[in-house]
Amino acid sequence: MKWLSRFRFKSRKPSHASITACPQCHQEMVFVEKFTMMGDDRRTYRCERCGIERVIDFGSALWKIMSDANKSGGTH
Ligand SMILES: [Zn+2]
Repeated sequence: MKWLSRFRFKSRKPSHASITACPQCHQEMVFVEKFTMMGDDRRTYRCERCGIERVIDFGSALWKIMSDANKSGGTH
């Protein structure tokens, strides 16, 4: 599978993917605005490269990262 080796080469990034990375180009997006309401923690990030904005729900996103970290084994 040729595409697989290409994909692996392209995806050389830290083992824990950043939630603030652009879904398209995987560059770190820039922080734009923060919304906090009803205990939610949502932040708008923008990718200067793609020109897209994305609202990230840190409330659940951080939970997801924590559970993912637990799954990937404790080297800590
Ligand atoms: Zn992008």
